[in-house]
Amino acid sequence: MEDCPHPSCGGVVSAAGGAGLCRECREPAGACRLCGAWNRPFAQFCRACGKRFQFGGADLGSLGAGMLDKLPREPVALEIPAEFWIAPVSFGGYLWALSTDGGLWRVNPARGEVLPLLPLGPGFGRSSFVIRFLSLPGRRNPAPCLVAASPAAVAILNLAEPSAEPLLVAPESGGRFLADLVEDGFAAVAVHEGRVFVLERRGGELAMVSHQVATGVQERCRLEASDAAGPLVIGNHVWAYNPASLLHVSGASSSALPLAEGVTPFRSLAGVHDFRFPLGSAVWLTAPDGVYLPARAADRSGFLHLSSVHESLQQHFLALDGGFSYSADAGGRLIVAGGEKLAVFEGRNKVAEMPAPSLAPTGAEHIDGQFRAWTGQVGAAIAVRFAFGDRPRNAALPQQLRTWLPIGFLIPGASLVLVVQNQHENNNLGLSVWNLFDV
Ligand SMILES: [Zn+2]
Ligand SMILES: [Zn+2]
Repeated sequence: MEDCPHPSCGGVVSAAGGAGLCRECREPAGACRLCGAWNRPFAQFCRACGKRFQFGGADLGSLGAGMLDKLPREPVALEIPAEFWIAPVSFGGYLWALSTDGGLWRVNPARGEVLPLLPLGPGFGRSSFVIRFLSLPGRRNPAPCLVAASPAAVAILNLAEPSAEPLLVAPESGGRFLADLVEDGFAAVAVHEGRVFVLERRGGELAMVSHQVATGVQERCRLEASDAAGPLVIGNHVWAYNPASLLHVSGASSSALPLAEGVTPFRSLAGVHDFRFPLGSAVWLTAPDGVYLPARAADRSGFLHLSSVHESLQQHFLALDGGFSYSADAGGRLIVAGGEKLAVFEGRNKVAEMPAPSLAPTGAEHIDGQFRAWTGQVGAAIAVRFAFGDRPRNAALPQQLRTWLPIGFLIPGASLVLVVQNQHENNNLGLSVWNLFDV
């Protein structure tokens, strides 16, 4: 079945794994895992077999070598007229972007469409947000929800109905959530097993708030610390951290675990002049079994890799030389550029390394036993290329930018690879979305 699921279209959908893009209306579509029929990305049930439907993503691997051969293409650029600290998140075939004034934007690069949605309001867009399937109160099936925090509220917005009012969770009277990258440091909302976690300050007290979305039941766990960053989800546990310790949160009780000797994880932008941020994900990177925290030990920068092994927390410091930038892929591999090298880590193990002058990484993919890194290069123009593969490809972006932050995005379903760059003009951080692949 190749027909487009979008109303009164009937176009042909080009497939890329379990996701596709309509050649006619340029909207994404998802294939039913059971019968293969195309559905709209946020459909609840398959329109052909009636079984429950959930949009599945596509990674670079599912696009296949044929798709990679289409590079380079003339890139198509879209500008979003707002200030952004946080890079967009790819979900359901679209990019979702949150500006520093709390404006929410949905971007469809294949259509060249930038759609302003219901704004979340002041205070949002200053810490990273997540998109997860969550059970909302009174709903039978989990819905795709954008979860973002401001000091005054956590907003949970059902992306299948983005014009509906979001569900709001408020701090305790007199309190505020830690949700501002500049004022509060590395604090951001986290989601784990149907619960939303966020740090809350009230008077001199610091607490971890856990809100079960389906029932509205809330727990507050007071932390024995005046300062903390987080939350971090590691395995089945939720943690915060400060200069002295890792703070474990379980229900209403917390306990502290000392940090590996001599290791200091960064907690705010003030201490991390060596890093260029992968704006968008939190400054820490989440892997399937753990978290990479930018950190320092003695006089070396690197990452503190925290992982959960048989329910106990393991700490390993990965030392790196000089300044570097970093990113991770959907599989949680860490990719670091620095010291004229590009390296890929899986857990605490370095699994690949190559010489790479002036590159900033934007994600690595593992295809057919080989790593391909998606990188940007400083120069007269920005080049995008894959490394580690047998066939490196380059695509020059025809614009010189004073500052830049390339982020590789694979839009599931749209068969597109995008670069998002931050431009620095009049102290404004704008987003431009580059469409490099097409079907
Ligand atoms: Zn269509
Ligand atoms: Zn079906």
